[in-house]
Amino acid sequence: MIRDWSLHKAYINGEWQRADSGETIEVLNPATGKLLADVAFMRTSEARRAIDAAAAAFPAWSGALAKDRAVILRRWRDLMEHYLEDLACLITAEQGKPLDQARREVVGAIAYAEWYGEEARRAYGQTMPGTQTDRRVWVQKQAVGVVAAITPWNFPLTMVVRKCAPALAAGCSVVVKPAEDTPLCALAIAKLAEMAGFPKGVFNVVTGNPVPIAQALTDDFRVRMLSFTGSTPVGKRLIVQCADTVKKTAMELGGNAPFIVMDDANLDDAVAGAMISKYRNSGQTCVCANRILVQAGVYDAFVEKFIAATRALRMGNGFDDQIDIGPLINSRAVAKVERLMADAKRRGGVFHEGAEKPGAGFFVRPTVITDLPVDAACFEEELFAPIAPIYRFDTEADAIALANNVKGGLSSYLYSRDIGRIHRIADALQTGVVGINDGTTSHEGAPFGGVKESGHGREGGHWGLDEYLEVKYLNISLA
Ligand code: NAD
Repeated sequence: MIRDWSLHKAYINGEWQRADSGETIEVLNPATGKLLADVAFMRTSEARRAIDAAAAAFPAWSGALAKDRAVILRRWRDLMEHYLEDLACLITAEQGKPLDQARREVVGAIAYAEWYGEEARRAYGQTMPGTQTDRRVWVQKQAVGVVAAITPWNFPLTMVVRKCAPALAAGCSVVVKPAEDTPLCALAIAKLAEMAGFPKGVFNVVTGNPVPIAQALTDDFRVRMLSFTGSTPVGKRLIVQCADTVKKTAMELGGNAPFIVMDDANLDDAVAGAMISKYRNSGQTCVCANRILVQAGVYDAFVEKFIAATRALRMGNGFDDQIDIGPLINSRAVAKVERLMADAKRRGGVFHEGAEKPGAGFFVRPTVITDLPVDAACFEEELFAPIAPIYRFDTEADAIALANNVKGGLSSYLYSRDIGRIHRIADALQTGVVGINDGTTSHEGAPFGGVKESGHGREGGHWGLDEYLEVKYLNISLA
């Protein structure tokens, strides 16, 4: 059973270790506010031990046959499938999303592990003609080295696997620092990595205090890459911290997705897409519709249908079968939304509320906001909550200008049935991902990532593997 590991210990150098101080930190169930577990509260010394282990393991792991790494990745993937239900329950318990969404998260993690088990064998190089007839240029790819992976709480399983699967496939060793609200999934995935047979030191998880752990990871020259998923302010800070040792970085940061509905859209499809994009994971995804932009001709009809659908959502504990929407992650998240909603109210926003709060836990009522000016805080800030501001626009040019008028550039959505218009707008949208007539965009083979302040680097497909590979060329004389 994957529950057969000590929650008070993290996974360093193939061993389950306590914090040097013996301290632990509480993990709460966000649907009840009750204690779920105490996990090791580690700091600098444990992070350094994990880097030592990863650095020691790197030469053998990166030098192993790609097919041998692939076999272990495949076993890891199969164990995730075997323990799908346990992993889904852990996700719902520590993160709060409804159990069926948690199951889909596990399926997503499995897909990444599977893809990179296969992709491990495909780190192809190139040859090219030399500068003279007896010269050749040989281009090869090699693992970047020890990788630090810092992950968020909103997809506590997939975010770990989406980074570690390509890193491990490439031949890197990794030190994972999961979010303090949701360390249990990362520990479970470490247990499965141990069972799958990764050599000791190749996969490490350090739980605890983010600032000293991240400082140790970014200060250490032996860590050659930081892959971070989280908020833009923390990402900016970590980029600065990585400058001193000139680490490679991959930054998957906050989004602010526009969801554009044109007059010619299929309205029912657009409403269904917006419901998924907005309310999945209680609005706590980086690709959530943050600003719903609707063209004047269909604005009233869209708003009416969207409010009706929002009012039909059932909110509660994710373990309850009858639930569409769970809690927010913690009390700070609730306080942030309350600030944004107070600002919206002051600026004349009209609130259309859905389900009542079910009682204890960190819940926020799903709420549609209309009549809000575009200088409200809701427009520029990432909401990360089941709050849906809807704005009206007139022309295609207005839609593009509004959509791009923010610092974030992760994903966007467009509903239209005019192929020319679809391409014109999609070309103009300043985001790394565009969902066209679809409220979901995830695919393990596609290059997921953002532009502008949503970060740099891509996760998924061969692009995701390339992030963890350096390119080297050999200039060869045949003379
Ligand atoms: P966060 O930035 O607060 O935390 C992310 C990670 O950074 C956690 O592990 C946390 O412990 C750590 N951290 C926090 N403060 C730190 C510091 N000062 N120094 C070093 N590490 C620190 O983000 P979050 O609240 O966990 O996650 C939500 C954010 O993540 C949202 O902005 C969301 O859009 C973003 N996100 C982006 C993607 C993407 O693929 N682009 C995916 C999921 C989430």
